Amino acid sequence: MQYASWMEESGESFIGEMLKAAQNPSMISFAGGLPALELFPDQALQRSFQHVFEEQGKPALQYAQTAGHPQLRQWLAEQHKHNGKPVKIEEIAVTTGSQQGLSLLAQTFLDPGDVVFVETPTYIGAIQAFQSFRAQMMMIPCDEQGVIPEELEKKLKLVTPKFLYLIPNYQNPSGKVMGLERRIELLHVAKAHDLLVVEDNPYGELRFEGEKSPNLIELGDNVIYLGTFSKVLSPGLRVGYVVADPDIINHLCQTKEGVDLHSNNLTQRAVLEFLKEGLLPGHIQNLRTVYKERRNAMVRAVEKYLGNEVEMIIPSGGLFLWARFKKITNSFDYVQETIRQNVLYVPGALFYPDGRVTSEVRLNYSCSTPEIIDEGIQRLARAIKG
Ligand code: PMP
Repeated sequence: MQYASWMEESGESFIGEMLKAAQNPSMISFAGGLPALELFPDQALQRSFQHVFEEQGKPALQYAQTAGHPQLRQWLAEQHKHNGKPVKIEEIAVTTGSQQGLSLLAQTFLDPGDVVFVETPTYIGAIQAFQSFRAQMMMIPCDEQGVIPEELEKKLKLVTPKFLYLIPNYQNPSGKVMGLERRIELLHVAKAHDLLVVEDNPYGELRFEGEKSPNLIELGDNVIYLGTFSKVLSPGLRVGYVVADPDIINHLCQTKEGVDLHSNNLTQRAVLEFLKEGLLPGHIQNLRTVYKERRNAMVRAVEKYLGNEVEMIIPSGGLFLWARFKKITNSFDYVQETIRQNVLYVPGALFYPDGRVTSEVRLNYSCSTPEIIDEGIQRLARAIKG
């Protein structure tokens, strides 16, 4: 079969292999980025769907506008600021998860060979989206707060990228968070070089401790913001959104027409009902409490069973703990052994578009109880120590 050439370059889907291994009921998976299943507000959502069926059944089943359900867009607009100003409905498009936002951005902005700047390391799904439109990714060196402004300047002297992709809050995979000063500095550099910034923020609300910093889009005017309900409500709903200048929104919608016409109309209306009921803030509070306990359990277990073996970044929010094994060179080499021990992690190399060898791993704690986390880290320690 003659597939597009980028498919050959992208190789086998490691994620697919991990998902298959995760089907084994005795497996403890730290590999996914799944929210806790038992915390989904399924009954409240059932009432929201029911309400939509009762009140708006027929229009909810009809084709709808590409940019999204107008009242949902309005609600989203009210939650945001763009460069200090209120957001208008024309600055919002609803997407089928923020993954679609990434893909629409790639399709709309990138010609083959175009350069995109990314953090080191960065989110696998963004790498996939940018790769499938034949972009060249350039990794910008990072410190404990993410992209280093001086390093960004240096790279900007060498090449002009289409955009800089950032995850400022509880980054995937590193868990890092960018402080306010850093945000301002980066936006300053971006402005000076007329550089578009893509701000991806699925985890910002899942804060365990520390000050909340304003979103980049609140502080600047050269930012495209990606939001999603996946981590704060449910990923299966597939409701995300983009905030950007109306002209960018129009171009993204032109692309979206050719992709799926519009995101699921019924689901957008049900999410809006849920939001109008005022149920989201309490739910997020609950997620924060439970995820913080699980983060603590994972940090404790890593210290207990792998204390001399790893260096880790303790995340102050989000879903992931990023760790580096000190005595091994390649975390990929231990995947088969950990599968035999019935535990899964994601090897760090997948988060580097240059495919470098690394001893880092990403461990997810949100979907396992503290007891299971303890057992899983013991298994991991057995696999690594042999
Ligand atoms: N961006 C980042 C940084 C993510 O971690 C994820 C999900 N893992 C997404 C985007 C996509 O999320 P969704 O499509 O479910 O909104």
